[in-house]
Amino acid sequence: MTSIATPTPAPDPLLGPSSPVSCCWVDGRWTTVTQAGLTVATQAPHYGTGVFEGIRSYWNAKRDVSYLVRLGNHADRLLRGCRLLRIDPKISAPELRDLIVALVERSRFRGDLYIRPLALKSRLAPGTPFGVGLSGVEDLVAVYAIPMPSRATLRAIRCSISSWRRVPSGAVPPQAKLTGSYVNVALAVDEARAAGFDEAIMLNMRGTVAEASTSNVFALHGDTLTTPSRDSDILPGITRDCVLELTRAYLDVEVREAPLPVSDLLVADEVFLCGTGGELVAVTGISGRAIGTGAPGPVTAELFTRYRAAVQGTDDTHAHWNTAVPARADRAHTDQKDS
Ligand code: PMP
Repeated sequence: MTSIATPTPAPDPLLGPSSPVSCCWVDGRWTTVTQAGLTVATQAPHYGTGVFEGIRSYWNAKRDVSYLVRLGNHADRLLRGCRLLRIDPKISAPELRDLIVALVERSRFRGDLYIRPLALKSRLAPGTPFGVGLSGVEDLVAVYAIPMPSRATLRAIRCSISSWRRVPSGAVPPQAKLTGSYVNVALAVDEARAAGFDEAIMLNMRGTVAEASTSNVFALHGDTLTTPSRDSDILPGITRDCVLELTRAYLDVEVREAPLPVSDLLVADEVFLCGTGGELVAVTGISGRAIGTGAPGPVTAELFTRYRAAVQGTDDTHAHWNTAVPARADRAHTDQKDS
């Protein structure tokens, strides 16, 4: 007779130093990522009916503090996405911000983190027939974090122009980070990598530049910096907003939010991408053409340095972006910087 082995439970990562960041908050209780309790019957993976955020916290070793960047904007964007999907998060914006601060404290991690809040349709309420829908489905909110070291040096990447178009806002609104809409960018980035590129730049259905898979696009022509306007079927990124603010504050460059034709992108002096996770990255080639000199340009380099200084709290001019989370005595783990 075949015996069915009982699987050994995975070690509780909260207890071991090998997995420093695994605490997870799910609907009002602290647990671990592996014990969060989602099942194959959870609705969101079937229909893409979830909304998420990506938030960075930067570790400042000199001050013994973590800085959560633009926490309020990220919390507000998540809750707006919840409204769109009729998700009742049962948590207010201030409570969500406090929760994320508590998560960083509880992680006991002295290093850079990426925080992932997720709100989704979980399971059918009693009496709701099987099938797709937004009403009659229970909601679930979870927040967890992973270590994500920031990059000390400016990275240069090569992009393709994707054959996949960015989904139009009249079909799936790109202004919210809806889980289902990420199949669109997954197809694009997969195509790009299979063809030997690092990243995909997507056009919208009108044929102008929209965005890269998880970041916004900027192109410099002379002393004008252009980023696709909000009506270009983009997620108007929070990092994009930081870059606009930094450019206006420090650079002798005019900034424009406007439709960006692909022909303008290809002849730009500099192109860069920006987003919470990817930070600021120089694009030195697009579809086999060199951008500018084929090396990261000075405006990109300056914005990279200024952004890094602001979010890491080494330049306090933009301290209002950052929510400080002082280290607790038992925050002991460190990560590796790629310096
Ligand atoms: N576009 C898409 C599709 C994204 O997923 C992201 C990452 N959130 C961005 C742009 C950049 O947005 P943010 O700067 O708010 O992270």
